[in-house]
Parts: sequence; C-alpha cells; structure tokens
Amino acid sequence: MNSFRLTKNAMHQLATEYTTPLLVISLEQIEYNYRFLAKYLPRVKVFYAVKANPNDDIVKKAAELGSYFDVASDGEMLQLTRLGIGANRMVYANPYKTPKGLAVANRTGVNKFTFDSESEIYKMAKAVPGGTVLLRVRVDNPKALVDLNKKFGAAVEDVPRLLRIARDQGLDVGGLCFHVGSQSPTAEAHIEALHIVRNLFDNAQKEGFNLRILDIGGGLPIPTLDANIDLAEIAEDINIALEKLFPDTEIWAEPGRFICGTAVNLITSVIGTQERNHQKWYFLDDGLYGSFSGVIFDHWEYELEPFKEGELYPSTVAGPSCDSLDVLYRDRMMPKLEIGDLLLTANCGAYTSASATEFNGFAKTPMIIWEDVKNKIK
Ligand code: PLP
Repeated sequence: MNSFRLTKNAMHQLATEYTTPLLVISLEQIEYNYRFLAKYLPRVKVFYAVKANPNDDIVKKAAELGSYFDVASDGEMLQLTRLGIGANRMVYANPYKTPKGLAVANRTGVNKFTFDSESEIYKMAKAVPGGTVLLRVRVDNPKALVDLNKKFGAAVEDVPRLLRIARDQGLDVGGLCFHVGSQSPTAEAHIEALHIVRNLFDNAQKEGFNLRILDIGGGLPIPTLDANIDLAEIAEDINIALEKLFPDTEIWAEPGRFICGTAVNLITSVIGTQERNHQKWYFLDDGLYGSFSGVIFDHWEYELEPFKEGELYPSTVAGPSCDSLDVLYRDRMMPKLEIGDLLLTANCGAYTSASATEFNGFAKTPMIIWEDVKNKIK
C-alpha cells in the first residue's frame, strides 16, 4: 500500500525553511486514498470520519472529491458548515449526543444520526423530529487496535425492541450500522459483522421494517511498523461479502484512518540527550502531549526514521514537556543521535494532531501542504 513519505533531502530542506516540529500533509495522498476506496468498494458512499484529522485542507479536499462526512460533535458540524459543506452531507455518528450537538444539528439541518440506546431515541425524537436514524450494533473484534465495541453498540437481542421504539417515536428508521474497531488488520471482522447484520435486516423485515441503509463504519487499516497491510485484498473481500449479502442495500462507510493516516509526515528534532542507567535518552521537540498523542489515545507505534547509519542501541525517546509521562518509547533500537538530528515519522495523519494539546505552553505543531511547497525542494 502506497504512503506519502518525504525524502531525507526534502525533510532537511523543510526543517531548515519552516523549523521543527512540522507536519507535512499530502493532499494528493488523500485523493489517492479516496479514489482507492471508490475503486475497490464502488458501492460504498464514503463519510470521512472528521475526528481522525479535522485539518481544514483535508476536509476541503475530501469534500471536493465528493465525500460525505461522519461528524461527532457540534464543533465538527460547525467547522464543516463554515467550510460550506451542506448538512445533507453529514451523519452525526456519535451514539451519545450532547444537547449542544443536537441543537446545532437542528439549526443546520443535519438529519442523519446513529444511536445504540433507548434513552437516545427520546432525545433525538424531541430535538430532531423525523430524523433518519441508524442503530449501531455491537460486533466484538479483539483483533482491532482500538476495540470500540467495548464502549458502543446495542446487543443483538436488543435490536428489534430499539427499532420498534425509534419507529414509535416518529423517527425514520433507515437501517443499521457497526464499527469493527479501528485498525482492524483483516477483512474477517467486517465479514462476520455483515453476517450478523444480514440476520438483523431479515428479522426486521418480518416486523414490517424496510431497512434501506447499512453503514459499515471505519476500521480499515494502514501499514504499521511491522506489516504492510494488503488493503486491496481486504477491500475486495469486503466487497464480495457486500455483493452477496446486501446486493440492494445502500452502503455507507465512515473511514477515518484510511483516508488521512498515510497522508501526513512529522519532522521532529532531537533537542536534548542524556544517558541514564546505561541507556541513551533522546528528547524530541514534539511528544505525547502533542502530535505523538496517539501513543496513548491510539495505541500506535510510530516510526522514527533518523536516516543515519551505524550500530543500533536500545534507547529511550521522550517528548519536550516537563511531565515524566511524556516518554514515547523505551528500548527503541536507534543509532547514536545528537542535538539537531532530525527524525521522520510517516503514516502519522490519523489521531495525532487531532488529539494534540498545548500542555506546558507548547503550541500545536504547524502543518504545511506538501503540494504547495514541493517545487521549492532542490
Ligand atoms: N466512525 C465512528 C463512529 C468512530 O468512532 C470512528 C473512530 O473512532 C470512525 C468512524 C473512524 O474509524 P477509523 O479511523 O478506524 O476508520
């Protein structure tokens, strides 16, 4: 699978011109990823999950490509509205919506929602009467890097009752949805989930429902440090199952990581070195409270490419804040580094800057667009 990756030379020139830390976004890679999905999952209507990376340029690029959007909050709905994206292109896909979120949905005209509980039905019926709703079903998948089903999804046995209540409350019961968990490494979980929801569609039909939409959520993976995932194979397998099980249903998906994960590189510098208990320590100018927040929130193991030859030593890599939690990795094999050395982290577009903070007064890492600057690279 193809990822955006700066050369050593480009990394050095950008670091000199813009200083570090620096995030470099490739909009061509966003386009490549979007078109890849359109090619391998041709029936799927893509709702880009803004939470993965809400950068305006990424969102605008996705919009220009024809994407719809999965939004999780009032903030995301207002951001997209500011960018001129119509409410008809959004699904408010947070099973637990805030009063502010529902008020903004009502005001802006967002009328597609997901839910997994009875209490949410009454909230939606009151705030957005007649809205189209998809019931999120729990599909366990311990193989996902982030198992969202520990928090979300109605139990299969509760589905008929919840659909009935939603209908009785005047909502437009459009269909079902699921999320197999983020960074799900094979098609297996998707296929298992498709069989589960097929049964639920059939049972609902017997009760007089005409479920017309299936939303297969996110979960599509990107390459990791130790595996170059075969996304074409995964998508083809999912597509075959969709054709067999849901030939006439409208299919939606909410990919986040897949759209933006491979499109961003981070350049950091070593700002301090230390030796502690016979182990080298390297302090970087970005850390757990910044673009590497995904070490905690996303359980991600990031590449740290120094473009340096030489023997490798178990090393500790830490961020710049004054908190002892701010250690990215211990015993990471690294060559000897010095202050000023640069490190490249590719595949870091998803759940990185999105969850960064300004703790200790460190500003969030600036972002530039590769296609705006690449002609300047000699
Ligand atoms: N949809 C929902 C409701 C989510 O909660 C998430 C991620 O948390 C996504 C989509 C995006 O998932 P992924 O990044 O795995 O594609």
